[in-house]
Amino acid sequence: MFLDQEEKSGTILYIEDNDANRLLVRRVLMAEGYTVIEVPNPLEAIGKLKQTMPNLILMDINMPDIDGYTLTAMIREHPEFDHIPIIALTANVMKGDKEKSLEAGCDGYIQKPIDIDTLPIQVDKYMKLKR
Ligand code: MN
Repeated sequence: MFLDQEEKSGTILYIEDNDANRLLVRRVLMAEGYTVIEVPNPLEAIGKLKQTMPNLILMDINMPDIDGYTLTAMIREHPEFDHIPIIALTANVMKGDKEKSLEAGCDGYIQKPIDIDTLPIQVDKYMKLKR
């Protein structure tokens, strides 16, 4: 293959309770060259963040125990994570959902179901985001 495509680098923390979504997103982003760290249990997210200090957080919104809005607000209480962009992933198409995620401290919004063609483009854009 002689695709004119640069190998991407950087670490992405993906907080998501759904196995199929994690598998899909990991496959797509690892193929781009990113390191993907999966967090299936939102209660473990803060600890994983401290361990790994990723370049980007992908945040599922609908999760048991803590939803993505609440978890984002919790992460934003830690100044040491302030520079890390958080991107919400949600299937909710309710009006005000985008606003709600931004209000909680997210920097962007990716709509589910995941589009494997546009996901790398969106992630690349957010990786370059400076908070
Ligand atoms: Mn979920």
